[in-house]
Amino acid sequence: MNNGNTHHQPQILVTGGLGFIGSHTVVELQNEGYEVFIIDNLSNSNLDVLKGIYNITGIKPKFFQFDLLDKEKTHQFFNQHRINGVIHFAASKAVGESVEKPLKYYENNIGSLVNVLQGMLDNNCNHFIFSSSCTVYGQADTLPITESAPLKPAESPYGNTKKISEEILLDATRSSELKAIALRYFNPIGAHPSAEIGELPLGVPNNLIPYVTQTAAGIRTQLSVFGNDYPTPDGTAIRDYIHVVDLAKAHIAALKRLLNHENKSQLEIFNVGTGMGSSVLEVIQAFEKATHMKLNYQLVGRRAGDITAAYADTSLVHKELGWKTEKSLEDALLDAWNWQLKQK
Ligand code: UDP
Repeated sequence: MNNGNTHHQPQILVTGGLGFIGSHTVVELQNEGYEVFIIDNLSNSNLDVLKGIYNITGIKPKFFQFDLLDKEKTHQFFNQHRINGVIHFAASKAVGESVEKPLKYYENNIGSLVNVLQGMLDNNCNHFIFSSSCTVYGQADTLPITESAPLKPAESPYGNTKKISEEILLDATRSSELKAIALRYFNPIGAHPSAEIGELPLGVPNNLIPYVTQTAAGIRTQLSVFGNDYPTPDGTAIRDYIHVVDLAKAHIAALKRLLNHENKSQLEIFNVGTGMGSSVLEVIQAFEKATHMKLNYQLVGRRAGDITAAYADTSLVHKELGWKTEKSLEDALLDAWNWQLKQK
């Protein structure tokens, strides 16, 4: 990306580009000189995110507000713009809600994926990066988790949409010119260090870090630590928490691989994590250290559906994408806290 002429830079569509991971990826794409198009239906985001992106990069991405379930609009978009690559984030992601409303999750997450892929193939757009999840591994038998670990039955309809989406990608890449990379994220956390963009949980957060920062901010009275009888050193569950800016950069590395024709198969799959596991109590300690605050928490029973431990083996993604994380857990927690402080 160094010919200095922005008009000849690849044009990249980011679906769900106003969401948590999407917005951070848009920033990194723009920093690298790509021309970014966003499609987002604002179902779990808002237009202020566009301003945050602009405040960081000085560039306004092209924004299209519509639902990817609208097949006509989706096809029209690909007809009207020469898109060189797609990074597909748009999806519903609340695990608990997916248990209550499974059909909404299958319709949204599968229907929009199919529409985007059809729109791409009809217009010779062949480069696709997909947001998958380590949830496809369930409780893995061996840690750290490699990409060849067996997939387990999904714990939720949400998790199942990720498994099904990967299967759809496998079939679609086998039958067409489509080249895809699925990134299986571990636990994305943090916010942009500028505090211009970050995570915007709707209502009471389900995820650990937003609950931690809202408790520290006094919005919640107390954090519940779900389970201290897991077979781990301190009894609390272990996850691989990755800074969202590091995660965003993994998408750029994956995109470059496809645009440069460096992929080794039509569908490639990479784990994206730090490779380090942290327990819930370790996260709390790191937060207290990073922010010099005391967090009010209590130990309670396990949460249904939670696994004991998951963290990534990152050797494949490191070797093939030349990517690894640069930020620490404390960096991520401090950035999440600074973002929290900016919320009203
Ligand atoms: N967790 C917790 N209290 C909360 C939210 C989460 O103790 O209020 C724990 C949860 O049981 C899990 C870890 O924090 O062990 C990460 O949970 P999160 O929902 O963020 O991600 P998950 O890995 O479950 O998708």
